[in-house]
Amino acid sequence: MEVRKLQNYINGEWVASESNELEEVRNPAWDKLLCHVPMSTQTEVYRAVQAAKDAFPEWRNTPPVTRCRYLLRLIELMEERFDELSRVQTTEHGKTIDESRGETRRAIEMVEVASGIPSLMQGFNLEDIAVGIDEYAIYQPLGVFCTLAPFNFPFMVPLWYLPFAIACGNTFIVKPSPRAPMSQADLFMLFDEVGLPPGVVNLVNGATDVANNLMEHPDIQGVTFVGSTPVGRIVYRKCGEAGKKVIAQTGAKNFIVIMPDAELDSSMASLMSSFFGNTGQRCLSGANALVVGDDAFYKRFADKFVEAAANIKVGDGLDESVQMGPLQNVASKQRVAGVIERGIKEGAKLALDGRKLNLVGDVPETCFLNPTVFENVTPDMSLAREEIFGPVASLLRAKDLDEAIRIINGIPYGNAASIYTTSGKWARQFQHDVEAGNVGINIGIVAPMSFFPFGGRKDSFFGVTHGQGRDVIRFFTDPKIVIQRWF
Ligand code: NAD
Repeated sequence: MEVRKLQNYINGEWVASESNELEEVRNPAWDKLLCHVPMSTQTEVYRAVQAAKDAFPEWRNTPPVTRCRYLLRLIELMEERFDELSRVQTTEHGKTIDESRGETRRAIEMVEVASGIPSLMQGFNLEDIAVGIDEYAIYQPLGVFCTLAPFNFPFMVPLWYLPFAIACGNTFIVKPSPRAPMSQADLFMLFDEVGLPPGVVNLVNGATDVANNLMEHPDIQGVTFVGSTPVGRIVYRKCGEAGKKVIAQTGAKNFIVIMPDAELDSSMASLMSSFFGNTGQRCLSGANALVVGDDAFYKRFADKFVEAAANIKVGDGLDESVQMGPLQNVASKQRVAGVIERGIKEGAKLALDGRKLNLVGDVPETCFLNPTVFENVTPDMSLAREEIFGPVASLLRAKDLDEAIRIINGIPYGNAASIYTTSGKWARQFQHDVEAGNVGINIGIVAPMSFFPFGGRKDSFFGVTHGQGRDVIRFFTDPKIVIQRWF
């Protein structure tokens, strides 16, 4: 496979970066070099912002229905290249090809929903707020927005924002994750074919410096960020100081409560997918299974859980038989191995040790871990409280649902929480009381569809409106209020 050198896409053209600072991206399954990604210069960032700024007046005056036709063309191209787009995600990230197909499908759905913008961005009005006076709200675009993307859904996450932003009449800059930048490069090849006016969408590769240059630029109206909580805090503060709008969707530590009436056999597949899908590198991954019930029920659950986890096939995600791929890079594997070590020292019981590798085929061990399960985890342990972002599950116990909810609400994150039960009463109590932005009832991965906002509370979200759906349309527009009287 040819080693690519990624370029930036600025003002409707592919341009090689002038930077000689390059980072390597390797395929985590085979430890093979895939591409070099440039850490673009400030001048290049500023060029992209200027291009987006220059494109804005004409783009915002383009009727929404015309703007959407570009998105409809993009959808066609995404469908045509569905397999290639999915393969590249697996190649640079490591997730299974089936997970990548799911990511591509979700990404397309974002564009589909955004292409309804002529209906979705309409304002509202009231005749006769006083005698002979009418008032109305028009939602207007604001200018240039950007996104700072994470590595774990390299194709989909920028599309939580980009199609909505441009459908509303804004122009946009994507800064992909330097760890997995190829998916966005391939997406922008499609934008190039779509023939959007130059400057409407731009791609600038890089890491923290590029992010800072974007956040500090006075012509950027707002920033969307998806990534870890510590970085999200920095982004939120910087954007606040600079008076910019911001959505920061951040880290997670998701609990899954197993009630004593849960249907264990039919739930196990969705639990495995929640805890170990995407190799645990999802902000919606299950991390802590919190089991309510007596010793016999707990044992029945733990035995089934450990057995199912031990049977997950781990290997190259491009192999259709594989159910879990590698961690995305060596540093991630080392970090997660360190977490396992610390868990043992904290006194948890290692019921399944994923460091003992059992891999499909002859892939090198470089980035792989098998599923790991800890038992006897208590809510005060770092295992239970800190985001691991790897294939490590912790089993905890609670005496009843009240205690389970107290434990969940006592940790700093609030991205997702699920309950497995056959009781409507328990499900309703859980939905009502749990402090999480996305709640699952017999659902292990609570991924909101593109037409709903993506929730998140406490340290899992900083901002006001969320990504996706109507929320993100409000983010990318500002209501202008008009009050009129005619003499
Ligand atoms: P990260 O925070 O390391 O990086 C995210 C982005 O921020 C990247 O583009 C990176 O280049 C940039 N960045 C890194 N340091 C920066 C700094 N100091 N200043 C400005 N920008 C900086 O996150 P990651 O490891 O790529 O992604 C994994 C994290 O993302 C996990 O914590 C996961 O839970 C979270 N995530 C959250 C959601 C959600 O919806 N809440 C979705 C996906 C991922």
